[in-house]
Amino acid sequence: MTDVILAKAKRKEELSLEEIATLLSITDPDELQALYDCAYFLKEQYVGKIAYFRGIIECSNLCMKDCYYCGIRKSNTNVERFLMNEDEIFKEAVWAFEAEYGSCVIQSGERQDEVYISMIERVVGRIKEATKGELGITLSLGEQTEETYARWKKAGASRYLLRIETTNPEIYARIHPADHSMEVRKECLAALRRTGYQVGTGVMMGLPGQTMEDLANDILFLKEIDIDMVGMGPYIPHGDTPMGQEIPAYTDEKKKEALQLGLKMIAVTRIVLRDINIAAATALQALEYTGREQGLLCGANVIMPNVTETDYRSKYQLYDNKPCTDENSSMCRGCLSGRIKGIGETVGFNERGDAPHFYKRMEK
Ligand code: SAM
Repeated sequence: MTDVILAKAKRKEELSLEEIATLLSITDPDELQALYDCAYFLKEQYVGKIAYFRGIIECSNLCMKDCYYCGIRKSNTNVERFLMNEDEIFKEAVWAFEAEYGSCVIQSGERQDEVYISMIERVVGRIKEATKGELGITLSLGEQTEETYARWKKAGASRYLLRIETTNPEIYARIHPADHSMEVRKECLAALRRTGYQVGTGVMMGLPGQTMEDLANDILFLKEIDIDMVGMGPYIPHGDTPMGQEIPAYTDEKKKEALQLGLKMIAVTRIVLRDINIAAATALQALEYTGREQGLLCGANVIMPNVTETDYRSKYQLYDNKPCTDENSSMCRGCLSGRIKGIGETVGFNERGDAPHFYKRMEK
């Protein structure tokens, strides 16, 4: 059955919801390998065997949101809050540029006040000027007004990541407080598109009560909104969150299962969406040391090495056992590049690595 679906995928035929859910349900090792091989075959054809680096700067853990799964939610009083100043953010972006990363990602908890909005606007402008517009600037700063998105775009940002987290309304409502709305997230994604960004979204996999059909629907949602980039990752419990307190810390067996689901989602997303950029999330590495490289072998083509000052990293714990919190940026660059060469891929140093899908969309 799965070989028939994979043959269809290789012929670039559309897959139905049921077929996508069938692929996500594979557990047989030979069938899994066939799934990953099919995704890699399509990855080579559409985006090549190049891994693009996006240096991620986690510039603040201050957050006005209270998502039940997230370690930096506003009600977690065990977190020591921090906010980098403009110069610190600027310095790290320039470090990423000098380390020949084609792009940086600025991520933080959510804030919608003018002081924060204008600080981001200024620092994006400074990064653009200092790198002569050569460093791609991606933002991941949550829900904002269309006007704010437009200001940041005008200052020099070109991509924006905002995960929908799940497209199942019941699960969405279970993992968020009542005043967090999936409709608002969808409207934000539409606003980002109207503003001219390359738009990225994604989901968490392995949420309580989530089925393969839910995940298949998530993939079809990504297709429906014609997304350019996907950043998705396994849900990993954080002990100081309401969800983390209900779910026991992952055993080795559970970690394996979560990693496998993460890899299957990458593979099936590559098969269905083909010419987009897909990130191998850091959460994969929290489940197994080589998780991100395995993600590349299953269809991902982007990795986001952490370029945040080491002192701040332990304060940006979205989930338990987040990797690389005690490493500095040069160590991350060195060890990752070596491991990527080890799997027969090259790193796209000095390349922004925009998704072919974005250019195709622009031609229309
Ligand atoms: N506030 C911004 C937003 O919501 O887009 C950006 C920061 S938020 C911390 C970045 C992402 O972290 C979220 O989209 C969520 O998917 C992920 N995340 C948070 N808690 C997590 C957990 N326990 N396991 C896996 N991913 C998690």
